[in-house]
Amino acid sequence: MDIALARAWIAAIAAAVDENADQLTQLDSAIGDADHGVNLRRGFTAVVEALNGLEAATVGDVLVRTGATLVSKVGGAAGPLYGTAFRAMGKALAEAQVDAEGVAKAQVDAEGVAKAQVDAEGVAKALRAGLEGLQRLGAAVPGDKTIVDAYLPALTAFDAAVGAGGDLATAAAEAARAAEEGMRATTPLQARKGRASYLGARSVGHQDPGATSTWLIFRALAEVTRT
Ligand code: ADP
Ligand code: MG
Repeated sequence: MDIALARAWIAAIAAAVDENADQLTQLDSAIGDADHGVNLRRGFTAVVEALNGLEAATVGDVLVRTGATLVSKVGGAAGPLYGTAFRAMGKALAEAQVDAEGVAKAQVDAEGVAKAQVDAEGVAKALRAGLEGLQRLGAAVPGDKTIVDAYLPALTAFDAAVGAGGDLATAAAEAARAAEEGMRATTPLQARKGRASYLGARSVGHQDPGATSTWLIFRALAEVTRT
């Protein structure tokens, strides 16, 4: 993944969120307060604007700015959770790009343009750091009917594909498939975290909005990496 691909990923998420905002809000109206689509649309619109004004030197810069913007612009649970995840992804990459001599490995080409490259293992590491950050903040575990129920299977599938020698496109496609399965598997669950948990047993039988937006995020990664 290079800076252009990272930007394309975020742009694809913004487009998917915009396209599916009504569905996300509908899902949230069943077991929440009907603002998930609105929240994310506002957030990713702000992110696209912020990235337009950003001179990124690394992939990490793109993701850190994405996360920071989400944290500052989105209310509700999901803004700070996704914001923390993207910031953690970006920070993990920044660390990975500093080599043994402590020199930033972002390469500069003939025109002086930074073209930091992150391989599939690097992206896997970043995605793991994102989930860890999100879980540190939200304390949700698998089965709580949250973002984690789509994110964790996606990460597991991504890791497995990379471990088997798959490239970024293959890993992202596997992750998107697993996220979709995880999203669907939230329907029979009873929510134990977030607003939906106030409903107790009445949260059963509805697909989780956050798990649904997480699927959009992984599907966007699969779309932009597809070769
Ligand atoms: P709010 O619930 O504050 O209105 P949103 O509607 O934007 O925020 O987001 C709701 C989604 O946030 C839920 O569907 C759920 O997936 C996710 N969520 C809520 N709490 C947590 C948590 N502690 N950890 C992970 N995800 C969570
Ligand atoms: Mg809500």
